[in-house]
Amino acid sequence: MTQLNPRQREAVRYIDGPLLVLAGAGSGKTSVITRKIAYLVEQCDISAKRIAAVTFTNKAAREMKERVSKLIGGSTAKGLTVCTFHQLGLKIIRSERKHLGLKSGFSIFDGEDSRNLIRDLLIQEHGAEGDQAGTIAQRISSWKNDRVLPEQAVARATSPADILCAQAYLRYQRALRAYNALDFDDLILLPTILFEQQSEILEKWQSQLHYLLVDEYQDTNTSQYLLVKQLVGLRGGLTVVGDDDQSIYAWRGARPENLELLQEDFPGLKVIKLEQNYRSTSRILKAANTLIANNSHVFEKQLWSELGYGEPLRIIRCSDERHEADQVVAEIQDHRLRKRKAYGDYAILYRGNHQSRLLEIALQQDQVPYHLSGGTSFFSRNEVKDIMAYLRLLVNADDDNAFLRIANVPRRKLGTSTLEALGAFANEQQCSLSEACERAGEGVLPEASLKRLKEFHYWLGSMRRLSDSEAGVAGIRQLIRDIDYEDWLLQLSSSEDVAERRMSNVHFLIDSLDKLTRDEGIGLDEAINRLILRDLLEQQDEDEAGHDCVQLMTLHASKGLEFPHVYIIGMEENLLPHRVSIEEDNIAEERRLAYVGITRAQQTLTMTLAEKRRQFGDTIPCEPSRFIAELPADDLVWQGGSDEKSVEANKERAAETLSSLKSLFA
Ligand code: ATP
Ligand code: MG
Repeated sequence: MTQLNPRQREAVRYIDGPLLVLAGAGSGKTSVITRKIAYLVEQCDISAKRIAAVTFTNKAAREMKERVSKLIGGSTAKGLTVCTFHQLGLKIIRSERKHLGLKSGFSIFDGEDSRNLIRDLLIQEHGAEGDQAGTIAQRISSWKNDRVLPEQAVARATSPADILCAQAYLRYQRALRAYNALDFDDLILLPTILFEQQSEILEKWQSQLHYLLVDEYQDTNTSQYLLVKQLVGLRGGLTVVGDDDQSIYAWRGARPENLELLQEDFPGLKVIKLEQNYRSTSRILKAANTLIANNSHVFEKQLWSELGYGEPLRIIRCSDERHEADQVVAEIQDHRLRKRKAYGDYAILYRGNHQSRLLEIALQQDQVPYHLSGGTSFFSRNEVKDIMAYLRLLVNADDDNAFLRIANVPRRKLGTSTLEALGAFANEQQCSLSEACERAGEGVLPEASLKRLKEFHYWLGSMRRLSDSEAGVAGIRQLIRDIDYEDWLLQLSSSEDVAERRMSNVHFLIDSLDKLTRDEGIGLDEAINRLILRDLLEQQDEDEAGHDCVQLMTLHASKGLEFPHVYIIGMEENLLPHRVSIEEDNIAEERRLAYVGITRAQQTLTMTLAEKRRQFGDTIPCEPSRFIAELPADDLVWQGGSDEKSVEANKERAAETLSSLKSLFA
C-alpha cells in the first residue's frame, strides 16, 4: 500500500461502517476502489464472491476487473462482481425471475423498441399519430428512474398531457408484461420493488453480499440509490466515491443530492476528502478549479497537484468547422512527430456525436488511426437489429416487437394487412402474435396468408428446438443460411462491398455470442441479453480498439478516463453550453461537463472554436463559449483568427519533421 497517500490509505482501510470518498477529478477515487477490493480479499478475508463493485460503464468495469486481477491474481479474484448498475439488476432479475412473474427467455427492450411499442399503443388506442412517442418514452423513463409506478403516475396526473402520459405508462407496462419483456429502467426498478415487497428475498441477497463499492456515485438516480440502500442494509459494508462537480446525467434522472442523502440515511457515515490530483499539471487544475467555482457547491474542495505548472492552455480560433477538424488533425500529426508520442496519447472530445463526422473525414484523409466511442453503435445497425430480433424470438416466442420486425425480413409475403389482421386476432385472444399464429383458424385470415403465417411459425419453432439442442450457436448459423440473409443483404445494399460489410457484422455478432456462451458457460438466452446490455447501456466501444489510435468521444463518454493530450472542440455558445441548456437555464450542468472535459487532460489542453458553422443548411456566425471567459486569462494562449498559423503550415512542418526523422534512421 506504499503508493497510496495517507488519506487514500485511510479510505482503503476503513471498514467499520459506510464510507463516502468525496473528491475532485483525478484524485484517485477509482484507484481507492480497486485497492480496497484487494484489501478486503487479502487482509479482511472476505471472499471475492461476497464483494460487488458497481461502475458507470462496461469499459470501466472491465478495466477495474483487470486491475484487481493484477493486484490479487485472477484465481483469487474469481467470483468478484464488477459491473454496471444495469448488469447488477439483470443478475438479480435472472435469479429471481419466478418471483417477478417473468417467463424464462424474457427480452430486454432498448430505447428504440420502447418508442416503437409506445407509438403502436398510441395509434391503437387513440388513433393518434405516434409522433409523441419519444416525449412519452422520456417521461416514462423519468418516472421509472424516480421510482414512480404506473398507478402512482395515473393518480398524480392532473393536466391532460400528464394524464395521457400516465395512461400510456400503464398500458406500456402491461404490454411489456404480455411480451415477457423488460426495458432498461426496469432492470433497476424491478429488483427494488421485489426487495420492498419480499423481505426474505432481500435478506438472502444481503447475506450474500458483504461489501458493496460504487464509483461515480454522483450520477446515480433515485432507483439506483434505493437499490444500494437495500443491498447494504444494516451491515453497512459500503464505500461510495464521487465528485458532485462531475454530475452530468441529470437528464437521465441522476440526483447529485444522493450524496447528501447518504449522510441522512447512514448517520454513522464517514466522509474522507482527497485533494491531491495525480493526473494533471497545476495549470490545467487551476483552470478547472476557476471554472467550476462559478457553480454553487454542495461540498467545497480544492484540488492541487505536484506535477509542475505545465504549458498554457491553448485556444484556437478557426474559420469554420472544416478548418477546425483539419487544424486539430494537423496539430496532432505535428505534435506526435516532434515529441515522438503515440496516437493513443491524444483524445478529441466534443459535446455532441454529430461533431465527430468532419473529424473522421479529416483523420481518414491523413491516414491517422482513430477509435470512435459511441456514435452509430454496432447494435443500432439494421442488419444487427434484424438478427437480434431473430435471436430474441428464439428465446422468447412472445416478443411481439421482434416478431413484427422480422416477419417479412427477408420477404415472406407477410404484408402489413396480414400482420394487422393477426394483431387484431391476438388482441381479441389476449395472446402474443406467435401464439395467435398457432390458434388462428379458418376465417381469421385469407387462406393463403394463414398458410404462410403458419409455415413461418412452425419453421421458427423448429429453429427454436435446434438452437435449444446441442447445436446451440450452430443452430443460429443454420437459421441465417435458411433465410438466405446474405442474399437479402445483397438485394438491399448499394454495392457488393456494402453487403459484404453488413454480412461481416452479422458474423461478428454470432461469433461474439458463440464466444460468450463458451467463455462464460451460459445459455443462449442469457448470452443474448448480455449482448444487448453490453452495448446499449453506454454505447461505448463495442470492441476495444487495442492498437494505437487517437480517441474520439463525447464529453459524457470521457468520464473517468485520462489522456496526456486533450482537444476539446466546439467551445462555442450553443454547443457548449448546449443550446437547449441555455434555453432551459441549465448552465451549471454544462459547466460540469466542461469541467469533466478539462480534467481529462494530463499534460496539455487545447480548445478550438469556429467563427462560423453550418447548421441546418445555413452558415451562422458563432460566439466563443462563456466558459472560456471563466478560465484564468493569464493561463490562456490564443491562436488562429487574424494571426492564424495555417493548417498548411502545420502540415508542412509535420512533413519536414517526418523527413528529418526518416533521414535520422536512414
Ligand atoms: P475521476 O474523477 O476522473 O474519475 P479519480 O479520482 O477516479 O478520477 P483515478 O483515475 O483513480 O482518479 O486516478 C487518477 C490518476 O492518478 C491515475 O493515473 C492513478 O493511477 C493516479 N494515482 C492515484 N493515486 C495515486 C497515488 N497515490 N500516487 C500516484 N498516482 C496516483
Ligand atoms: Mg474515477
